[in-house]
Amino acid sequence: MRKKIIAGNWKMNYTASQAEDFLLSILDLINTDEVDVVVCPNYTALDRIQNILDDKKVKLGAQNVYFEPKGAYTGEISVDMLNALNVEYCIVGHSERRQYFNETNLDVNKKVKVLIEKGIKPILCVGETLEERNENKLFEKVELQIKEGLLDVSAEDVKNNVVIAYEPIWAIGTGVTATSAQAEEMCAYIRKVIAQIYGENVSESVRIQYGGSVNAKNANELLNMDNIDGALVGGAALTNDFVAIVNYEN
Ligand code: PEP
Repeated sequence: MRKKIIAGNWKMNYTASQAEDFLLSILDLINTDEVDVVVCPNYTALDRIQNILDDKKVKLGAQNVYFEPKGAYTGEISVDMLNALNVEYCIVGHSERRQYFNETNLDVNKKVKVLIEKGIKPILCVGETLEERNENKLFEKVELQIKEGLLDVSAEDVKNNVVIAYEPIWAIGTGVTATSAQAEEMCAYIRKVIAQIYGENVSESVRIQYGGSVNAKNANELLNMDNIDGALVGGAALTNDFVAIVNYEN
């Protein structure tokens, strides 16, 4: 049985003190052991947030990392720096990184590997544009993102340490959610791709989230689909809606 994982991607929102205030306002309302709950504040808030997550009821995630260990990479953050702040998860390959910062599958793959090597679990984001969906290229796009994103990652690591987030780009921040059937179809396809590369045992264990305008109203249906093992939540993770999503009914 795969444990659900619900992660809030706060993106470039909240100063460190605003992030702290917000988390303190919802923390006591999150009371579930059945779901892994992760919050991903911006880099400047990671330290403040880790200090109030001591009990581990909610886990700490980062939104990005650089794959080089250290050196002259102005503006970048290494895995060791995340580890020093007790970060347990890190989003990689979010479509906004791919779109605005030109991240390629190869960059994403380097990040996935360096995170795993140093004990942080990557949340690998994949997903198609509306154009790709309309041209029926969605499956080949996502398959390539999975294959290149996980290149040279072992079966054991995929099984134990990787989370995959299916995030159709047309659904991110738009208020247009994929239907539960569309989300389920792609998550099942991703599981099939994982089975082809790594075998059934790994594919039955790997957790696959859906992301894209998840909110308190649509979360129940999405989270009860067979192949959807959680959600990556953007806008709604900045509000009390996140509590309702985490406490969804199963
Ligand atoms: C995201 O950015 O990962 C996301 C899913 O955003 P939203 O929930 O706002 O669509």
